[in-house]
Amino acid sequence: MAYRPGGALATKIHMKHIAVATTEGYASRPGGAQAELLAEVNKHESERNLQLVLEEFRNYQEGVLPAGPGARSLTEFFAGIDTQLDAASATAPKTQRNDRDVLNLLTKRANVLHLGPANYCWFTDPSRALCLKLAGTPTADRPLIGMCDSARCPQATHHPGHRPVWAEHADRTKIFIGQLGTTRKTERTRLQADYDRALRVVAEIDAASTTDEESA
Ligand code: SF4
Repeated sequence: MAYRPGGALATKIHMKHIAVATTEGYASRPGGAQAELLAEVNKHESERNLQLVLEEFRNYQEGVLPAGPGARSLTEFFAGIDTQLDAASATAPKTQRNDRDVLNLLTKRANVLHLGPANYCWFTDPSRALCLKLAGTPTADRPLIGMCDSARCPQATHHPGHRPVWAEHADRTKIFIGQLGTTRKTERTRLQADYDRALRVVAEIDAASTTDEESA
């Protein structure tokens, strides 16, 4: 019914949907309000990602570095951008290093950024994605954030903004361990590994975000 002329409206009324977008969603009609909404969401996501990458680049310039298995790769990327900006300002002294110039250089990286609850995922290479390996879908074009193991995946980074999540996780795990009976050895071993990992991530974030001036 939805594919006939005027069918979307007829289907909306027949199915008693409140919004025509709902009908379009069920009918998979391309080009309708659903497509517009999706385009709008994607646009906002791209802008948000760009701002996040810019923030991290500025942090890098201040000596606040990323932590986690993907930290080295991200730091090298930022160093490359810094070098390009230096070269540009050397050849054209009047060039302003404004945010727009930097954003242009950061856009490609922003396009592969996905947000985990406790990490950033830089999905540059599906074959290196730990979540896809675990799921047995190594060629998928999106990460499986729900299966993220950011402490072990080479595409993950942790930043000061993620610290509270890890610190809270460590605190909660410690309480669970304290409540376990002496017979629950397997559970205790698992929780202890979880606790140690959370503490390690917190320590790495602290070490990477301590600038030379602070540690002097
Ligand atoms: S494991 Fe996490 S960081 Fe790695 S690719 Fe998957 S979602 Fe991204």
